[in-house]
Amino acid sequence: MFESSLEEDKILAEKVLSGIMPHIGNSLRIGITGVPGVGKSTFIESFGKYLTSLGKRIAVLAIDPSSQKTKGSILGDKTRMEALAHDPLAYIRPSATGATLGGVSNKTREVMLLCEAAGFEIIIIETVGVGQSETAVKSMVDFFLLLMLSGAGDELQGMKKGIMEMADLIVINKADGDNKLASKKAQKEYQNALHLFPPSDSEWQPRVTTCSAIEKEGLKEIWDLIEGFKHTTKKNRYFQTNRQRQNLHWMQEVIKQELEAHFLRHPQVSANLPELERQVLAGDIPATNAAKALLSIYKGEQEG
Ligand code: GDP
Repeated sequence: MFESSLEEDKILAEKVLSGIMPHIGNSLRIGITGVPGVGKSTFIESFGKYLTSLGKRIAVLAIDPSSQKTKGSILGDKTRMEALAHDPLAYIRPSATGATLGGVSNKTREVMLLCEAAGFEIIIIETVGVGQSETAVKSMVDFFLLLMLSGAGDELQGMKKGIMEMADLIVINKADGDNKLASKKAQKEYQNALHLFPPSDSEWQPRVTTCSAIEKEGLKEIWDLIEGFKHTTKKNRYFQTNRQRQNLHWMQEVIKQELEAHFLRHPQVSANLPELERQVLAGDIPATNAAKALLSIYKGEQEG
């Protein structure tokens, strides 16, 4: 129902959201990202199984803006995490497809709140490392984990800089076999690179560690680091303040999205939009003037 776009479902979903308010906020929200092939689903399966072996209930959700193109698709196929999918302590929700990033992340956020109310202690939100979706995930989680590989090319490193800056923990995956030494070397390099970033107001110094999702090595260390983060940020209250800020940010996002949708649905706006777009493309009128013209049509109607 939360993923439905039917008006009546949306109304019911809002009621449910109000009703569950007293039961949310008790989980740890972890965002996990990395380029396709880095081992996200293998890692989430191994790490998830490790957490359920500690008796924790975990939910795995996905934000996948690229699922339409299939290439970067994540969680589309539940069988990629078969052991976890059959674990009674785990819940896996493949991502909603075919929506805009805003639409997908709206729903993921609401489903995350539902999972919290249902008693899941750890919520993992997976996204594919393509850029814009990281920001959406970062704005709804407590802890942001970036999966990387040793020996990735320089351009990739450059591309990742913005994302690296968001990370609370970088995990070099596939640190097994012949790759072990290279992974240790990469760990040092990334750790040095992280020191160049300005310190975050969380007072948490981002770490770099290695793991092998396949051989299930390094998982305990990762969990210990996440718990360390939680301890530090609960003590200095960053944890709580960050969530408050995220809620406010979320409210503003929903306002922007709803206003835009309302604007575009306006009959005279949609009637005049194509012609004005054409004129802007042709260079006949300034973009600002075209936008203002549409806005006054919209505002005229609102005020009248
Ligand atoms: P995703 O696209 O990021 O979800 O990556 P997958 O989890 O599908 O993994 C991509 C490939 O890397 C698969 O063939 C995995 O078996 C392999 N892989 C994942 N984790 C490891 C690891 O820790 N060590 C090794 N050697 N291979 C891994």
